[in-house]
Amino acid sequence: MFVDRVRVHLRSGDGGAGVVSFVRARGRPQGKPTGGSGGDGGDIEFRVDEGMASLLRYRRNPHHAADRGMHGSGDLKHGRRGADLVLSVPPGTIIRDPDGVVIGDLVAEGQSVVAVPGGRGGRGNAAFVSPSLRAPTVCEQGEYGREGWFELELRLMADAALVGFPNAGKSTFISTVSSARPKIADYPFTTLEPHLGVVAIDDAEFVLADIPGLIEGAAEGKGLGHEFLRHVERARVLVILLDPSITAQHPVDVQLTVLGAELEAFNPALVERPRLVVLGKGDLPEAADAIAAVPEAMVMSSKSGEGVNEVLYAVARLLEGVERDPIDREGYVLHRPVLAESHLVRVGEHEWSVVGLPAERAVRFADLTNPQAVDLASRRLSRLGIDDVLAAAGAVEGDTVRIGDLEFEYHEPQDWDEGEEE
Ligand code: GDP
Ligand code: MG
Repeated sequence: MFVDRVRVHLRSGDGGAGVVSFVRARGRPQGKPTGGSGGDGGDIEFRVDEGMASLLRYRRNPHHAADRGMHGSGDLKHGRRGADLVLSVPPGTIIRDPDGVVIGDLVAEGQSVVAVPGGRGGRGNAAFVSPSLRAPTVCEQGEYGREGWFELELRLMADAALVGFPNAGKSTFISTVSSARPKIADYPFTTLEPHLGVVAIDDAEFVLADIPGLIEGAAEGKGLGHEFLRHVERARVLVILLDPSITAQHPVDVQLTVLGAELEAFNPALVERPRLVVLGKGDLPEAADAIAAVPEAMVMSSKSGEGVNEVLYAVARLLEGVERDPIDREGYVLHRPVLAESHLVRVGEHEWSVVGLPAERAVRFADLTNPQAVDLASRRLSRLGIDDVLAAAGAVEGDTVRIGDLEFEYHEPQDWDEGEEE
């Protein structure tokens, strides 16, 4: 199996910040809170596009970021959400997150997985109004987007298989026309390594495989693994490459007959496979005579480049008319909880640190010197049960606790009034 792997760096959008604002209002000496909330940052999502044949575009361009959310503003205006970024992948793509966990095995058109959720927007002061807090002067910061290196893996099957006698020029052709040489993995016959190339012309993209030595008794399984021949079997079109330089022993029309018989012996269905007959090494003087023997062949020379593009266009056109085989495994999307647990870490004798998204979200106020913000943050933390966890871990009155940008002194748990949003 040919495996193409690329690493991509993803960064989801930052959330926009909330703001504090008031308008003057009759009967309300402190004014009416009108600070809008920031918009969430854009997510990054992978989605299958059947038109794609490879991960080539990510090889060329591995960095991707989604848009940030806009900040909120006065007049209760919320910031616009950052646009999500949808990245297309070919069917059969497996996606691993930075921890190496497979978060999606996408096989069918339209199947998708959110790889990195955007940062949440921060709330403006209008969102904090409650019976006990009629004029909040607090707002939240936007949350940063998350980033990391993800891995995409695609098990490639060839779209077009090159078939020809040894030395017909298959390898030369493929190395001339392919823009990427995916890493070849897990193939046991290293001396017979096939070459696989991704060909990109205009908007079309296809995978071309050089299947060496088909003629050498491959149908009887001599030398070549079956894994290998599956590429011929499953290739949507065949490109038969004839060699004019060996016409003394094998005239080109005989080559065509012999190759046809080989394919048929291997799998009779291959006779029906759409095919393109190409006469290579067109720069050689022998080519002129050979073409008369196979008038249906296109002529090209990998050496001079003549006719090569015409052959690629012809392959792309042939492929347009033939469906790809569906992937022979069931895909899935793993729904990983975005919210990691919060953890308590003892930093010193009387020093503690709480890490993790829920706790960090609880304290993400823009100004932690504001007593209202400290009060709200404490309530949220106590609702998360952090006081109890600290008590159970042996924290004592006066210990220092750090969460995100907030640093506070630990006090014995006490009951809070209900009242805030959420
Ligand atoms: P393969 O066995 O089919 O993979 O053939 P290779 O690509 O290894 O080529 C066999 C020989 O043919 C090499 O010596 C190549 O340099 C030569 N060859 C390949 N393409 C051309 C061509 O377009 N023109 C000429 N003159 N020689 C070629
Ligand atoms: Mg070769």
